[in-house]
Amino acid sequence: MRCKEEDDNLLEEEEEEEVGVARPVQIVVSDEEEHSFWLQEEVLERLLLQEEVQDLHVVVVSVAGAFRKGKSFLLDFMLRYMYKQSSGSWIGGEEEPLTGFTWRGGCERETTGILAWSEVFVVNKPDGSKVAVLLIDTQGAFDSQSTIKDCATLFALSTMTSSVQVTIVSSSQLFTEYGRLAMEEVYEKPFQTLMFLIRDWSYPYEHSYGLEGGQSFLEKRLQVKQNQHEELQNVRKHIHSCFSNISCFLLPHPGLKVATNPHFDGRLRDIDEEFKKELVNLVPTLLSPENLVEKEIGGVKITCRDLLHYFKAYMKIYQGEELPHPKSMLQATAEANNLAAVAGAKEAYNKSMEQVCGGDKPYISPAELERRHAELRQASVRHFRSVKKMGGEDFCRRYQEQLEAELDEAYLNFSKHNDGKNIFYAARTPATLFAVMFV
Ligand code: GDP
Ligand code: MG
Repeated sequence: MRCKEEDDNLLEEEEEEEVGVARPVQIVVSDEEEHSFWLQEEVLERLLLQEEVQDLHVVVVSVAGAFRKGKSFLLDFMLRYMYKQSSGSWIGGEEEPLTGFTWRGGCERETTGILAWSEVFVVNKPDGSKVAVLLIDTQGAFDSQSTIKDCATLFALSTMTSSVQVTIVSSSQLFTEYGRLAMEEVYEKPFQTLMFLIRDWSYPYEHSYGLEGGQSFLEKRLQVKQNQHEELQNVRKHIHSCFSNISCFLLPHPGLKVATNPHFDGRLRDIDEEFKKELVNLVPTLLSPENLVEKEIGGVKITCRDLLHYFKAYMKIYQGEELPHPKSMLQATAEANNLAAVAGAKEAYNKSMEQVCGGDKPYISPAELERRHAELRQASVRHFRSVKKMGGEDFCRRYQEQLEAELDEAYLNFSKHNDGKNIFYAARTPATLFAVMFV
């Protein structure tokens, strides 16, 4: 009953919400009954194509895990840091309830998918560059066999689109989720930073809280032993070939009020000291300007606009596929990488052609239009070729051919529109001739 009331309140809140107020927005929806996913393209476009951020290199920090692992709790502290970092004490007041990613104890809202904070933060890095920071909440259901494929897909998608992935697990779970991500024969590390965040760590005397203890715990767990199951051995061997940087952070238990009190609203007073002490280290480790990791694909930093292309490309690849196979993840990255390069090159062509013969431009002679097209087509293909891509020469050639075909098609459309502006040409059809005669 309590949950129902809360849901109703939530609905009211959502209805009242004004446009422009920062909030979590769902970018990938997963339908557990249909076992399907879809991208909320418009939401993602609104997010990533904002004027101030679209051309900035993007940092994507994703917090991933099952339900009720404390993702929203952590993300809300991350938000506090992003909003208040300049003012020194970011962690908040003793009596200040947590807000942000709808965080509420006790109530199960079984939605899986990927949420993003609607405000993309612009941060100045110490080297003078400006980056856009996107905070993501990836929620998968790890509970039943039928949802394993969904969950693996969601995880794969989140891993591929983020530069820093924080995976919240309990100590015994370490690696189970990542089993599926292990890859064979990877020449270039496709992913960047993976942090295992181990909650409720209760052996600080064996491995101390924080990053250092986490590192020694991780090393111990990464050791490959003879008597281990082969699949597990492989995960351990290959996880390093997938990520440039793997770390582990041991977080203490936040205290009974946090874990069990249904009226707990996130205020600091109710959280154990030890936990707060570690939180103060954890959040800047992930988000301080000098620690931000820009998203790279194939060794190249990508912008918010590129990220949009990647999301679209990855979604296309994963829809309807079997379990995202380790190999297919790399394949998907190479495909998406090429598709994004095609989209970027095409966009450059379209923009320039708009300058030549867009809706508000006068008619130009077909010969001149063709000349400009040939020139811009060549520039676009050059643009495509100059982007560093994955997958090898033959693989990329297929995408170049696709680009060329798409450019020729776009040219046909441009030239049709141009012809339409030629009154003499248009007048050849009787209906318009009629109209012209009576003007
Ligand atoms: P989410 O479903 O992963 O987003 O989880 P929430 O952030 O909504 O948290 C679920 C519940 O776990 C809430 O009641 C939190 O108070 C509690 N919680 C948050 N962090 C921790 C933690 O580190 N340990 C424990 N035991 N509980 C936590
Ligand atoms: Mg949540």
